[in-house]
Amino acid sequence: MTAVLDPTCAPARVTGDDLRVPLVQGGTLDYANFDYAASAPALAGVAARVDELLPYYASVHRGAGYASRISTRCYEAARDTVGRFLGCDTDQVVVFTRNTTDALNLLAGCVPGDTVVLDIEHHANFLPWQRHGRRVVCAADTLDETVCRLAAELCAKPAALLAVTGASNVTGEVLPLERLAELAHQCGARILVDAAQLAPHRRIDLRATGIDYLALSGHKLYAPFGAGVLVGRRDWLDAAPPYLAGGGAVTEVTPDDTSWAAAPHRHEAGSPNVLGAAALAAACDALTESSAPAQARERVLTERLRAGLADIPGIRCLRIWPDTADCVGIVAFTVDGYEPGRVAAYLSAEHAIGVRDGRFCAHPLLARFGIEAGLRASIGLGTTETQIDRLLGAVRALVTHGPAWNYTGAGGRWDPVPETRPGLSVDGSAGAAPCV
Ligand code: PLP
Repeated sequence: MTAVLDPTCAPARVTGDDLRVPLVQGGTLDYANFDYAASAPALAGVAARVDELLPYYASVHRGAGYASRISTRCYEAARDTVGRFLGCDTDQVVVFTRNTTDALNLLAGCVPGDTVVLDIEHHANFLPWQRHGRRVVCAADTLDETVCRLAAELCAKPAALLAVTGASNVTGEVLPLERLAELAHQCGARILVDAAQLAPHRRIDLRATGIDYLALSGHKLYAPFGAGVLVGRRDWLDAAPPYLAGGGAVTEVTPDDTSWAAAPHRHEAGSPNVLGAAALAAACDALTESSAPAQARERVLTERLRAGLADIPGIRCLRIWPDTADCVGIVAFTVDGYEPGRVAAYLSAEHAIGVRDGRFCAHPLLARFGIEAGLRASIGLGTTETQIDRLLGAVRALVTHGPAWNYTGAGGRWDPVPETRPGLSVDGSAGAAPCV
């Protein structure tokens, strides 16, 4: 039986949810954002929090002025909020970073040994470990067998870290984190979870699941103000050189010597991003409050999208394993006979729908699928049933009748010809963009 939406659980208010955008054939339409997995809009409450804090914006940790003191309090309070949101253990610290990529590169500089990774990862959780001893395990045909392969690799030779994604940024498939944490620990390793895609969709409790390190991005967590997080066990973070050398990361400097501060400050040199941190904390609070109904809502919408796509001839939905128990609201697919870039251009130009196309910074995974590129529709707290149906209708119309406009492509990027939407034509003939 198809699940139905709980009528009492409305979509969340997010910035841009009333945006109307031009269509190539003329007129405008409400923008349907299916690219939450790349960057999510700000929750209205997060944007309000930033507005509220802006007048007090001042230096953090460095000033006695009232605004400085308030900014410092907000920054440190944000650290506490993020720690509570993630169920941090007492020996875990929250380090503010720019994003997940930054957080993972930071940790890569602290790991005292090899890191084991799967070949399905986003490049951010694949490339940083290369510099310090990376061992890649190829995913098997089932998730169960993949976990066995990881166990074999971890047991065969000591590794310091198992680095896994919480949810695939391509297919949305969720990994069994508790099981993997137990496995890593049994083999004497620690576990890092790249939660860039999982955290916006599922609550994570580090203490309960045994996760040692976790990275996430504020801009994927409805707080697009430039902050991310690395959370993790203090000992490695304190033993490693600071991520960046500079002000704020030290306790004492002489012309010949430097005493580095302990984490988190050790790895937060330079002026902290107080607005980003406060926005992230506001998002954590909002997600805690809305958690269960929002997840139920997302499951219904994702199921509607998957089922709808499966019903359209020529659509292939991408999936890594047949036995994953849970998927977040990310659906990747291809359309027979159409390059993904052309489909994305068509959806944007003729239907005001924004999806992602390309290789999703996961080239090894796309190679496993045997495709050059794909399409990805990702949903979030502001997604509506109407938008899902619009996307399905637009894909079906493409498959049935083809596009109504001409498109040209080069290097994977496709554009309508002629481009009539303001701000997007190469020579500016269609008029200026609204805010450029
Ligand atoms: N990890 C995963 C699973 C992602 O999906 C992404 C971005 O899409 C990243 C890491 C990198 O995130 P950021 O670009 O915010 O550093």
